[in-house]
Amino acid sequence: MELDTDNAFAELGLAPDATEREVKAAWRRLASQWHPDRNDSAGAVARMQRINQAFEEIRRAGFNDRAGGDGDTPVTPTGDATDGSDADQQAEAASGAAGTQRQRRTLHRKLRMTLEQAASGCIKVLRGKVTDNCASCRGAGHHVLGGNCAKCGGSGAIPKRAFFGWPTGVAECDACLGGGIARQVCAACAGVGKMAPRSYQINVRIPPGVRHGALLHVDGRRVSGEGPAADIEIRIEVSRHEFFELDDDGTIRCEMPIDGFAWIANRQVKVPTVTGYQMLQLSRDRLTYRLEGMGFPVQCRGPRADHVVTLVPIFPQQLSTDQQILLDQLSATTLGADEEALDERLRAWNRGLRGWKTATGPDGA
Ligand SMILES: [Zn+2]
Ligand SMILES: [Zn+2]
Repeated sequence: MELDTDNAFAELGLAPDATEREVKAAWRRLASQWHPDRNDSAGAVARMQRINQAFEEIRRAGFNDRAGGDGDTPVTPTGDATDGSDADQQAEAASGAAGTQRQRRTLHRKLRMTLEQAASGCIKVLRGKVTDNCASCRGAGHHVLGGNCAKCGGSGAIPKRAFFGWPTGVAECDACLGGGIARQVCAACAGVGKMAPRSYQINVRIPPGVRHGALLHVDGRRVSGEGPAADIEIRIEVSRHEFFELDDDGTIRCEMPIDGFAWIANRQVKVPTVTGYQMLQLSRDRLTYRLEGMGFPVQCRGPRADHVVTLVPIFPQQLSTDQQILLDQLSATTLGADEEALDERLRAWNRGLRGWKTATGPDGA
């Protein structure tokens, strides 16, 4: 069975802020009481195992007073908070971290966003619910009063009696859970150790350039307003984009269908980028264009990489009569043109064709 540290303290009949000395004393006393060599009750072996497990768990997590060195518990008692930092310490206590050795509680959340939001940064509202440990008993569900338990006189066991009054062995004392130390059910939480679930809402500023799968850490002590009194680890999820592809180096690639006539005519067109439209001057001898610094940030908060757009000129499958007439006129301007008026690439091709003999032609003809 896995024991958490608070349960371990409760098992030894101690409050979660008990010192190393108190833990060791409680363990010695309980061990001498429950060791199977001295205790032949039915549950003694199991109880002894639980006592040892509890002691090991507390030692593993670190004794409360080790870091402080002076034996003081580092947690501010309820009601003594006078400023922000004390309130923060209370928050730590509320989340079950009574000792300096133990971590503050961390909530794990996911945030989904578009590629555009990830590129430019954004503010996201994070809403949720947290259940705090009872601040009065720090999650233990009881207060340790000290001294011997009144019900069992400190032995931790009470005689079991059958309904007609004869003793039939011993049972663990339900008032002290066998610890023998007087304790009192916490009135603030009715012994549950938890408070009612509480809603929280915080605004998280997402920096420009976060990638899918990135982890952002929100320090709970810096959250103002309706915070969850805990740290938050946020896993970023960037949705797949309909027409942008993000490369590892931050380059955004986009394949863009374009009216073929507009491309031939060297028009200016609007090109979508992650931060909005950009005007692009087309050039009929090029299909790929690089817009420098218009891509995704190279690193978080860093300068932006390039946006590369590749045009896919689309010509109509069927031309209208007007379009056919215009195209005939257009091609006539080059078909009937002088050789000298042609582009050098066409002239070189024509020269090559004139000197070419096919393999099937009559040799030497
Ligand atoms: Zn309580
Ligand atoms: Zn008792």
